[in-house]
Amino acid sequence: MSKIVVVGGGAAGLELVTRLGSQLQGSRDHEVILVEPSSHHYWKPRLHEIAAGTFDNELNAVSYFQHAVCSGYRYVQASMTGLDRSGKILHLRGIDGQATELDYDYLVMAVGASSNDFNTPGVSEHCLFMDSPHQAQQAWQHINPLLRANEPRRVVIVGAGATGVELAAELAKVSQRLGRYSQAAHLQIILIEAAQRILPAGPVRLSEQARRALIRQGVDVRVRTRIQRAEAGCLFTANGERIGSDLQFWAAGIKGDDWLTELDGLETNHLNQLKVSATLQTWQDPDIFVIGDSAECPQPDGSFVPPRAQAANQAACHLATQFKRRLKGRKLQPFVFHDGGMVIAIGHNNAVGALANNKLILKGRLIRTLYDAIFRLHQQVLFGWGRVTALILLKRLKDILNPHYKGL
Ligand SMILES: Cc1cc2nc3c(=O)[nH]c(=O)nc-3n(C[C@H](O)[C@H](O)[C@H](O)COP(=O)(O)OP(=O)(O)OC[C@H]3O[C@@H](n4cnc5c(N)ncnc54)[C@H](O)[C@@H]3O)c2cc1C
Repeated sequence: MSKIVVVGGGAAGLELVTRLGSQLQGSRDHEVILVEPSSHHYWKPRLHEIAAGTFDNELNAVSYFQHAVCSGYRYVQASMTGLDRSGKILHLRGIDGQATELDYDYLVMAVGASSNDFNTPGVSEHCLFMDSPHQAQQAWQHINPLLRANEPRRVVIVGAGATGVELAAELAKVSQRLGRYSQAAHLQIILIEAAQRILPAGPVRLSEQARRALIRQGVDVRVRTRIQRAEAGCLFTANGERIGSDLQFWAAGIKGDDWLTELDGLETNHLNQLKVSATLQTWQDPDIFVIGDSAECPQPDGSFVPPRAQAANQAACHLATQFKRRLKGRKLQPFVFHDGGMVIAIGHNNAVGALANNKLILKGRLIRTLYDAIFRLHQQVLFGWGRVTALILLKRLKDILNPHYKGL
């Protein structure tokens, strides 16, 4: 029997085990196992909604236990801590803190990445991060009292990539909507970016549309501003300016966790991403694959697959097909990322998007619907269209019956 172990149940890993589970269901020759420390899956591009109190846990969180039973894979609730390649053994730490081991025939690493503080002094101690559902829930614990403070409060967000822009816009929208309640404070939001423009990985016109939409929502957008140091309640720019805040977020860059550099000789790059060939196999070991944000995967034009949800989903889909070939002894095909564009949410009912090879820059409610559709496509892979349709209907109903903001 061959055992395929997938480590990390995020955008890439959970889609992969779902696809493999359904492909291999009923097979006595293969077993699919997911190793993941959390009990529930949250789609990472929606973490800013957890922080802003607008996320619906009941409808959008996926229990790994339940999903595994329905989808034909085994779920092990644990964190990977190490690897023995010669023995094909994973070292794990269970939720009770106990060390255990798990053997594999094929291993897929899909452990994602976190924000990169670029070793900026004080950032890890004095800033909040948005890299996991737990951190987003912690952020909500801090934001909720600010929204009830009855006087202006300031939130500073460093990094204007997708995470920073979506968080700034969502908080601005919540603050605006709560304006109708007398006890609600006004949030002043400052978004800081070191590059020349916000969303530096996207086309210039998209950045401009997003910047205008944020300014319309009252966000103070500051570009070409590099943060040099963080202290409790303030940030210092490279020009020596002190920016005081009630809450400060760090949402700049990405980096893999340090333990990835100590995986029995597997090579990593300067961002701690594991280096793989175009077939998603590590250069040192063809039985170990890496997908999603934790991979550095080359593309035909010499670039690398970007760390985006869309790329994670495509890699999961590609690898599921490649396992079919591999298990039949056939040659693996390279993974080529097809960029379907970039869509960024700007508050609850607005979004900006760059489509058709960046030729089409769009904004508004229709693009927001497209943004929501990307999440629904992820859910469709996990549950099928029947359940997704039910979830859409339930959401509509709850939107009518309940306030959007969970703090009310
Ligand atoms: C707030 C926010 C907004 C975003 N918005 C967008 C957007 O609009 N568009 C876009 O394309 N991208 C967006 N992204 C980026 C996108 O979410 C990631 O590119 C994508 O989730 C990467 O998928 P992944 O599977 O590689 O990692 P993740 O989705 O991060 O999953 C990694 C999984 O690995 C698990 N894990 C970690 N360590 C271990 C371990 N030691 N052992 C076992 N499991 C482990 C984690 O618990 C997690 O479940 C956003 C990200 C954030 C945070």
